[in-house]
Amino acid sequence: MITDKNTIAEAVPDNTGPDSTGPDSTGPDSTGPDSTGPDSTGPDSTGPDNTGPENTGPENTKKNPQKVIVIGSGLAGLASACVLAARGHAVTVLEKNDWFGGKAAVLHADGYRFDMGPTILTLPSVLKRVFSEANRDIDDYLELIRLDPQWRCFFESGNDGSGDRKADEQANVLDLVSDVDSMTANIVKFTSSQKDADGYRRFLKMSEQLHGVSDRFYFWKSIGGIRDTMDVGGAFSAAVLKDVMSLKMGKSVASVVRSHVPEKRVAQMMDHFTQYVGSSPYASPAVLCGIAHMQTDEGIWYPVGGTRAVPEALTKLALELGVTMRCGADVMRITSENGRVTGVVTANGETIRATAVVSNCDAVRTYRELLDGTPQSEKFERKNRYEAACSGVVLYLGLNRRYKHLLHHNFVFSRDPEEEFDFIYKRGEPAPDPSAYVCAPAISEPEVAPPDCEALYVLVHTPYLRSNHDWKKMLPTYRETILDKLERTGGMENIRDAIVYESALTPEDIHHRYRVLDGAIYGLASHGRFLGAFKPANRRTDFEGLYLAGGAAHPGPGMPMVLMSGWIAADSLDQDSARSAKR
Ligand SMILES: Cc1cc2nc3c(=O)[nH]c(=O)nc-3n(C[C@H](O)[C@H](O)[C@H](O)COP(=O)(O)OP(=O)(O)OC[C@H]3O[C@@H](n4cnc5c(N)ncnc54)[C@H](O)[C@@H]3O)c2cc1C
Repeated sequence: MITDKNTIAEAVPDNTGPDSTGPDSTGPDSTGPDSTGPDSTGPDSTGPDNTGPENTGPENTKKNPQKVIVIGSGLAGLASACVLAARGHAVTVLEKNDWFGGKAAVLHADGYRFDMGPTILTLPSVLKRVFSEANRDIDDYLELIRLDPQWRCFFESGNDGSGDRKADEQANVLDLVSDVDSMTANIVKFTSSQKDADGYRRFLKMSEQLHGVSDRFYFWKSIGGIRDTMDVGGAFSAAVLKDVMSLKMGKSVASVVRSHVPEKRVAQMMDHFTQYVGSSPYASPAVLCGIAHMQTDEGIWYPVGGTRAVPEALTKLALELGVTMRCGADVMRITSENGRVTGVVTANGETIRATAVVSNCDAVRTYRELLDGTPQSEKFERKNRYEAACSGVVLYLGLNRRYKHLLHHNFVFSRDPEEEFDFIYKRGEPAPDPSAYVCAPAISEPEVAPPDCEALYVLVHTPYLRSNHDWKKMLPTYRETILDKLERTGGMENIRDAIVYESALTPEDIHHRYRVLDGAIYGLASHGRFLGAFKPANRRTDFEGLYLAGGAAHPGPGMPMVLMSGWIAADSLDQDSARSAKR
């Protein structure tokens, strides 16, 4: 930790107690690009719920309400709790930390306010769906502002040769805007190439198609492997075959991006649509190119009050729906009898009985730690070789000025993406010339900082935590690398002189605060060109009454996906309860 006036620990107390599972205990780094296969715990998610979001059956559940414990109050846990309560179940949320919302935490210090984790909200329709479960209008809980341009991108490509600094800056800056015509015009101006602009347009068309396929086969249902996606009413038509072909199985995100847009800087920007899943575009399946359309179509949104306003709104809804919300409740064990979950035991020895459990704790750690010693835990370890997604370093910088050339969301890109991803995902070391995501929220909400100041948030992706990484020692040097990068490529001159408050979050902090796998920001890596998109299914078939929700479960990480994950876990539980009532 760098020399802070206020450390994170002081600003946001973390009463988590000793977390004995250090980076060493998370197992060998043994997953090759294609070894992250489907979760093979059985055909656990097929069946009647594979019919899409319209076919939910809340009516039935009132006849057979369940007593449900949700372990963890991340966005997925909160979404699950709200949906379950809206459908008539009795829900208790147990959270080890002393705030609700998990990674969507907030840091207040010296007149600055920082979102500590997620800052980019996409697909607000998923969040709206959670509120509509309870017949609530999201507008009564949250004010969302659309941001367009979506990102400002800074590239390091020397200078334009004119010696004019302003001209040089313009030559190396590209704004991502949602409208395709405006974006292609931006690309023509930036690259002087109509071919690349046309390629971007074709890419977005393909991305739209992939988005549609995801909607039909992958979203809003519990999926653990490719078999589950195929079970859509049992039909295998020419249309389905066309969809499968469109997935470009065996191709990576990076190769598909470059086959459309060879210009290396524009391609680098397009790679970053997949950075929401914390995986290398060179090892991730092409289906993830669908994220580009999801973002440009529905837009990027800023919740007034910061991202933190999202878990606050969900907590408010949960309380209104009668959910019992408990902080400082650290679950040590999920109990079971004859293959059916019976409740949990907390760190202070309290046993709480339940008829169903939704675990918002990391999926691998749920099996490894909370179900330790069970045959199912051993089988999970034996059959699955999941790899943690990347981790990251975040600098929270209270500045005494603003950099007026920044937008709300900015990317300051590395010189060489291949080298950068090679360091992060193959060598397992921080990249010497990293890309930095920079959030400058004062442009949208000046109250985040004193007048004319900025609450700057800088995120650099790093490898997931390795046993030889001591971030207390590594951070001071890496901080210099990051600040140099902001000055050199992002045009943030004399940034060190502008810093009046400073704090940081390292992979170690992330590991312990949120109890994730190896400090991963985004759950499990999506590596594997064929099956990399598959994560552990939400509905477990090895334990009756157990469901998984969160970034390390289907459909994966990022705010909209974890909210959907929470919804799917709740919907699966609700459907199972309705089915057992009929028996
Ligand atoms: C720095 C950073 C930046 C990010 N930026 C973005 C972004 O811009 N856009 C985006 O979409 N996503 C972003 N993400 C990812 C996004 O934040 C996550 O995917 C999402 O918030 C994870 O939610 P979750 O429900 O899976 O779990 P988490 O937020 O990890 O919450 C899990 C909760 O469970 C609790 N818990 C775990 N085990 C136990 C136990 N045994 N007993 C009791 N409680 C337990 C933890 O304390 C935690 O509160 C970012 C993440 C980070 C860290």
